[in-house]
Amino acid sequence: MNTGNWWWDTYDQPPAGATIVPFICASDKTHLTIFPHNQHAWPLFPTISNIRKDIRQTPKKKPGLLFGPIPYPPKGAKSTEVAWHSTVGTVLFSLRNLDVTGPRLKWNCADIFHRQCYPVLAAWVRDYPEQVIIAPVSYGSCPVCEIPDSALMGDSTCQTLDNSRDQHVYPELLDETKHDVLHTLHVHQIRNQFWQFPLCNFYHLCQPDELHQLILGLVKDVLHWLLK
Ligand SMILES: [Zn+2]
Repeated sequence: MNTGNWWWDTYDQPPAGATIVPFICASDKTHLTIFPHNQHAWPLFPTISNIRKDIRQTPKKKPGLLFGPIPYPPKGAKSTEVAWHSTVGTVLFSLRNLDVTGPRLKWNCADIFHRQCYPVLAAWVRDYPEQVIIAPVSYGSCPVCEIPDSALMGDSTCQTLDNSRDQHVYPELLDETKHDVLHTLHVHQIRNQFWQFPLCNFYHLCQPDELHQLILGLVKDVLHWLLK
């Protein structure tokens, strides 16, 4: 979104005059200290990117809403990933079933005008353990591209852009029960809810978590390397 390419690509598809409302979600597994037996949950925080940055960074103004904590592990679930996708798919049902060619309800905007708005899932803020569950891919593999294990850690022969994951290929492999191919690509045999969201490339949703991936991850490692 910050480069503008996302806007150009997305605005091509709805009817002329439509207003895209980019939907941003954030989730992270959280330890619930007020419950016994070390209970965990996933709070799900959605917001929209049409809010000014200074307002979004002021929690008192409530720029985001808590949709609700998803229990962990979900009761009666066969696997955490299946339950996670089923729950989030239900919660975000209206985004998944958006008809991008039809008219939308007019929304009242802050500048008193009414606009035909299309809410579109545009980004998901999460740390690496979350990415692995949401993708869902094997732990240790890249959730964004199909980089082979042997090419990790700076192999110059790897062309990351050519290895981007494709959300149109995986459902076909799943339908054709080509599980060995999925296994080679480190993709789990689960029907990912996010493959069906309109105007959304699931593998481009991934946004870095500033605390874990930049401050505690990248910056810490670079400083350690410099000091050596
Ligand atoms: Zn990658």
